[in-house]
Amino acid sequence: MSLKGKCAVVTGSTSGIGEGIAKALAAAGANIMLNGFGDADQIEALRAGMEAEHGVKCLYSDADMSKGETAKQLVHDTEKAFGAVDILVNNAGIQTVEKIEDFPDTRWDLILAINLSSNFHTIKAAVPGMKARGFGRIINIASAHGLVASPYKAAYVAAKHGVLGLTKTVALELAESGITCNAICPGFVKTPLVEGQIAEQAKANKMSEDEVVRNVILASQPSKKFVEVDEVAAMTVFLAGPSGTSITGAPISMDGGWTAR
Ligand code: NAD
Repeated sequence: MSLKGKCAVVTGSTSGIGEGIAKALAAAGANIMLNGFGDADQIEALRAGMEAEHGVKCLYSDADMSKGETAKQLVHDTEKAFGAVDILVNNAGIQTVEKIEDFPDTRWDLILAINLSSNFHTIKAAVPGMKARGFGRIINIASAHGLVASPYKAAYVAAKHGVLGLTKTVALELAESGITCNAICPGFVKTPLVEGQIAEQAKANKMSEDEVVRNVILASQPSKKFVEVDEVAAMTVFLAGPSGTSITGAPISMDGGWTAR
């Protein structure tokens, strides 16, 4: 699939799923604005490596998605640099696991800001340009937790349910304008974040890493297999391309059967 000449912003693309999505979009020919936090040398190696490997333009912004103004600025800076934002992937996200009565107020506010409100701000900023060009692909990386809940994840589950509401509303508003808006809802994906948790849980519970994966982390994922970053990245490329034209307002589950229960 060729996305040659298209320009994409991927929030939170210095790690995990976002990094995989950015690489896959670049491999398909899109210019990329990377975003997120991390080691400056590693980020520069990622940026330069994508340019060298795929012959696309690749830039990086450290815009903070917890702040509305910087989220909007990321879109405006990309339009200025590339001339357009054709593909917007809202992926930046964080998590806190805590009982509702102990859930820190500051973490509630931050999770809602990054995981939900940033999607509103980037979409609001990107839509005028997309409308003017008659083309746009908005892909929000939600979660199985956008469809079902788990205990101790109040802010994350609330934010991801909110992402699905926003996705459907935007899809309906833009249905005749050549712009689609969808949400990918992965189950557990093996990112560096989750890999760290496996080792920690194995130690804490005196279990083998295999037991932790099967009985703790993937307890609700019937396939008992992690979703791979590459699978989410490939779905994003598909939605961004011409075959995604009629898919809009959809929560796309990639969860090994979790939400079929
Ligand atoms: P990750 O921690 O590997 O990556 C998160 C990215 O977001 C990083 O690049 C980080 O720098 C960036 N980020 C964090 N705060 C930011 C901020 N304020 N401004 C800009 N960037 C910021 O996580 P991941 O597992 O790759 O998750 C990516 C997305 O996928 C999240 O929205 C997450 O909720 C969702 N998701 C993950 C899983 C999973 O099992 N890993 C499952 C379903 C959904």
